[in-house]
Amino acid sequence: MNDCIFCKIIDGTIPSVSVYEDDDIKVFLDISQTTPGHTLLVPKKHVANIFEYDDSLAQTILPKIPVIARAIKKSNPKILGLNIVNNNGAIAYQSVFHSHFHFIPRFADTDSFAMTFKDNSEKYSSDELQEIADRIHENMEE
Ligand code: 5GP
Ligand code: ZN
Repeated sequence: MNDCIFCKIIDGTIPSVSVYEDDDIKVFLDISQTTPGHTLLVPKKHVANIFEYDDSLAQTILPKIPVIARAIKKSNPKILGLNIVNNNGAIAYQSVFHSHFHFIPRFADTDSFAMTFKDNSEKYSSDELQEIADRIHENMEE
C-alpha cells in the first residue's frame, strides 16, 4: 500500500493546515515553518520528483506556482522576497519522495533560511562550458 506521507495528507489521513486545494493540487503549511508562512504545493497525483512529470502534469501544476507565490507575498507586508525550492533526489536534500515545491518567505538576511551558490567559474574553459550546454541540449525531449 501507499506509505507516502504527502498522499496521506492529500487524502486526510494525516492532518495538515490547508491553504488551498483543487482537483490537481494541495497547498498546505510545511510543519517546519522554516520561516513564517513556509508552504508546500504538491500534485495530488503521486510522482516522486520533477523527472516524473509528463507534459500534461507539468501544464496542470506549474502554472499554479506564481499564483501561490503572489498570494503568500500579499499575505504579509513583512515578506520582502520568496525562495521557491524543489528538491529532487536525496542528494538534493529531498526527504519526502512525493514531488513538492517549497515556498519560503524571506524577511531578512538573518532569517532561518540560507542557500549557498559557490562560484566555480574559474575552473571552466569556454569550450568545456559549451560542451556541457550542448550535452544538455541534445537530451531535451520533443
Ligand atoms: P524535502 O526535504 O523533501 O524537500 O521537504 C519535505 C518537507 O516536508 C520538509 O520541509 C518537512 O518539514 C515537511 N514535512 C514532513 N512531514 C510533514 C508533515 O507531516 N506535515 C507537514 N505539513 N509537513 C511535513
Ligand atoms: Zn505520495
